[in-house]
Amino acid sequence: MSKRLTIALAGNPNSGKTTVFNSLTGSRQHVGNYPGVTVEKKEGNLNYKGYEITVIDLPGTYSLTAYSIDEIVTRNFVVEEKPDVVIDIIDASNLERNLYLATQFMELEVPLILAFNMFDLAEKQGLAVDKKRLSELLGCPIVFTVATKKTGITELLEEVIKLKEGPVIFKKVRLDYGREMEEEIKKIEDILIEDRVLTQKYASRWLTVKLLERDSEVIKRAKASLHAGRVLEQTEKSINHLKNIFGDNPEAIIAERRYGLISGACSEAAQRTYELRHTTSDKIDKVLVNRVLGLPIFLGMTWLLFRFVFGFSEPLMRWIEIGRVWLQQLVRSFLPEGSVIQSLLVDGVIGGVGSVLVFVPVIFLLFLVMAILEDSGYMARVAFIMDRFMHKLGLHGRSSIPMLLGFGCTLPAIMATRTIDDQKDRLVTILINPFMSCGARLPFYALFIAAFFPGRMAGNILFSLYVLGIIIAIIMAKLFRRYLFRGPANPFVMELPPYRMPTLKGLLIHMWERGVVYLKKAGTVIFIGCVLVWFLSNFPWGPQRSVENSYAGRMGRVIAPVFKPLGLDDWRLSVGLIGGFIGKEIVVGTLGTLYSVDQAGNGATSLREALQNQTRADGSKMYTPLVAYAAMVFVLLYMPCIAVIGVIKKETNSWRWPLFAAFYTTAVAWIVALIVYQGGRLLGLG
Ligand code: GDP
Ligand code: MG
Repeated sequence: MSKRLTIALAGNPNSGKTTVFNSLTGSRQHVGNYPGVTVEKKEGNLNYKGYEITVIDLPGTYSLTAYSIDEIVTRNFVVEEKPDVVIDIIDASNLERNLYLATQFMELEVPLILAFNMFDLAEKQGLAVDKKRLSELLGCPIVFTVATKKTGITELLEEVIKLKEGPVIFKKVRLDYGREMEEEIKKIEDILIEDRVLTQKYASRWLTVKLLERDSEVIKRAKASLHAGRVLEQTEKSINHLKNIFGDNPEAIIAERRYGLISGACSEAAQRTYELRHTTSDKIDKVLVNRVLGLPIFLGMTWLLFRFVFGFSEPLMRWIEIGRVWLQQLVRSFLPEGSVIQSLLVDGVIGGVGSVLVFVPVIFLLFLVMAILEDSGYMARVAFIMDRFMHKLGLHGRSSIPMLLGFGCTLPAIMATRTIDDQKDRLVTILINPFMSCGARLPFYALFIAAFFPGRMAGNILFSLYVLGIIIAIIMAKLFRRYLFRGPANPFVMELPPYRMPTLKGLLIHMWERGVVYLKKAGTVIFIGCVLVWFLSNFPWGPQRSVENSYAGRMGRVIAPVFKPLGLDDWRLSVGLIGGFIGKEIVVGTLGTLYSVDQAGNGATSLREALQNQTRADGSKMYTPLVAYAAMVFVLLYMPCIAVIGVIKKETNSWRWPLFAAFYTTAVAWIVALIVYQGGRLLGLG
């Protein structure tokens, strides 16, 4: 008994499908129509290695939308008849354009082989393809063919048999549509997936993407699905949301991302020795993603942006700080002198939460800058540049995205590691992510930089902290990879979507979405944290109470010795660092509360001045620039906040890794701050 097997040939018109079909089947073929339509269906047979193979020459298409009858026929055949293998015939002399159809087959999750046909022409044009690498990046086998000369036809059949008999060689690739789009995809897919019958037949992700593209055929299917109402309603909502953000139909964005995948894969594994690539994006990328220039340009650009963020927000923060102190005095005068309520409101709430809110401008500006980088498409390039780096570290390319997200907030960054299939890669990425300086640490830097460094240095100091975080992360990744989690890294394509002009609306929405998290946090976690710190620093309550004798004071003095080798002799800061476990903004909040409690003796009118005026027991200044820098280094590196510990527990499903993360980061922070302080002193820096 011979085994039967069906192969469907798909491809752009004129890619050589019919020629491949003829080379495969010889003359044994018959022509009919697809049921119900007048589209020609050509079928042929051949025998190969005990298989009776039926080959179908599908109509030529550029895409798999529902816009033309050819596309619908092709799509329906592949989805409904489920051929054993789809061979996408690609005109290799026009590679990137032809691969567009392939991305859609990938999304349909059909068993796929790519035949790079017309390879003779492509080679003449100077195309060099790293076949193995490109196969890995696209997740399917590639065969070079010259159909007119029957070259590569046997190899094609060999690949068909291999794909049929297994084992699977290439890991399926999932095209990533970017954070915003993925969020909406998930919302719709979650509803769709409840209809088992539907999603058994069609890949749910594919259906979802098609819905976002407003594909008429798929909408028909959705209307007949289990939760039709909810699905369509969510689809409309998602489309509108995405339109708002991108200023364009999701369909356009989706197409862009598909080309982005192709562009990314080809940049890595297919080079033209001559003939320039065409689009403006490609031209810009020649410089920005350049192997030599890419990283320096990125660093230079961030450095400039940091200078901008700081230079712009500094005066704003000054005004808010003046307003905060003014409000404090006003509220103080209205409430009974020496009462608990006066102290709570003035020192705890306005002093603590207020000093955190002072940093709203810098946070919002930083998020605005990040939104510009992200929306313009440059962030994807940064990921691409970092990707090479990541490979050198033995890490997955996917890791660079969570790492970049980490600059906003570690929490979503750690959740984003879910896209990394390899468990080892994922753990390493989770463990080093807290070193990416998150937004919550910014208030502390802003306070200390403004207090102890001249304005012209501010941007540089801030930049150096971020870079230090990255360097430490790299070192730790290398160590973990070598000693804790050995093994090779997986290949992965970084998408290179085209550059686009960000819309003002999109930028503002993104800035607001992230910034509002900070405001909400100030109203909840930070509020509670500050009240707690206030309580600890004012109780036991009594007429002769002093901060030194409060619970916080006692606590601070117990821990203070730990920080002394780092040059940090301020028990208030020690308390703040512990409070920082609740949220890193609390460090500043605590200083705000503790310094406003005993501001009287200091003569300062702002937290910044209070810190500048603070002296040690021997009368010398408490903070020199060196001490301030060591403090910032410690805050940068030490244990992530409790929410992050919680999410690591959730993502790794054990207490082992969150505890490990908390301890090792703190140890690293202590050691690096020690090196900074003691090293700085040896160099005579203060
Ligand atoms: P279809 O539209 O996809 O069915 O494409 P055809 O099979 O009709 O081929 C289109 C043209 O490309 C024909 O003139 C073929 O002779 C030519 N062709 C097909 N394969 C190759 C190839 O590998 N190399 C070259 N140089 N020409 C090819
Ligand atoms: Mg043809």
